[in-house]
Amino acid sequence: MPEVRLNQITGDWVIIATERAKRPEEFKHVREHSAFPEHSPSCPFCTGNEAMTPAETFRLTDDEGRWTVRVVPNKFSALTPEGVIVKRRDDLRECLSGVGLHEVIIESPMHNTTTALLPLNRIGDILVAYRHRQIAFYDDERVEHVIIFKNHGEDAGTSLEHPHSQIVGTPVFPGQVMNRLNEAIRNYYYVNFGDCLYCTYMKGEKDDGLRVVSENEHFLAFVPYAALSPFHVWIYPKRHNACYGHITDDEIPALAVILKEILLRLYVGLGNPDYNYVIRSLSPGGADAKYFHWYLAIVPRLTKAAGFELGTGMYINTSLPEESAEFLRNVPIGAL
Ligand SMILES: [Zn+2]
Ligand SMILES: [Zn+2]
Repeated sequence: MPEVRLNQITGDWVIIATERAKRPEEFKHVREHSAFPEHSPSCPFCTGNEAMTPAETFRLTDDEGRWTVRVVPNKFSALTPEGVIVKRRDDLRECLSGVGLHEVIIESPMHNTTTALLPLNRIGDILVAYRHRQIAFYDDERVEHVIIFKNHGEDAGTSLEHPHSQIVGTPVFPGQVMNRLNEAIRNYYYVNFGDCLYCTYMKGEKDDGLRVVSENEHFLAFVPYAALSPFHVWIYPKRHNACYGHITDDEIPALAVILKEILLRLYVGLGNPDYNYVIRSLSPGGADAKYFHWYLAIVPRLTKAAGFELGTGMYINTSLPEESAEFLRNVPIGAL
């Protein structure tokens, strides 16, 4: 019989469709990634083409002075970085000027690689860039919320091959983030009586162990009990901290290890699937909040949300989270 599970963190109900569930191997597909050249003359993110992007806001270099990560404003930003925010409101209309920040994190000088295949110190560089830009974005008082995310592959919303991720600062606090925050606050005050929902939940996943994929000194990676979609993986920091920007220099290499490991397990085990990942976090001003806990969610795009999800806000997951975790744990990836 199918099981309807509550995702306590998001407040979503998920139908774990055991009758329709596929075996983990059935999600695998084959894709040629190395068919792309190492350098593309027309790609604005490749080395030698730096003049094709707007002036960079951040860069890291290797020992030879070559850049490893560049951050540049998004040429096709949905929001404009210039101007003041003007708000208007009457009985029918409520709006404000579309002011906000949008930058691209170019993750590697190489065109034909992917995050899962980058060396650990290069993934660390990307995470340092995220930290720097998140704090810089929040310094702009027009920004209410900052989201860091990656789209990998067409089903995840990008056709650009060159490995990159994005950071957006919005002039409003998004509804979905508000829902999670409300859920966290409700649990903190009325359900757990002063314990962080995320810390409590992480302890539950660790103790149960069935859905844990990997763990190191600072992080736990697992398929959530009520995963909204197949092979959904969450990476939680063990130290309670509500703001990604406050990640320490000790925690960055540990996050690089566990992120690379999970991405590589997906890459090898499922044949380089399209995926998104998102860092959910409060601002540096909210870093000490006892009720929220930043985390990174990786969502492979293996199924599509359809009318049922649209109409109910509920999800149907055609995989068993316990089986997905076991499958990922057993993917042979060798030494990182
Ligand atoms: Zn390129
Ligand atoms: Zn916590």
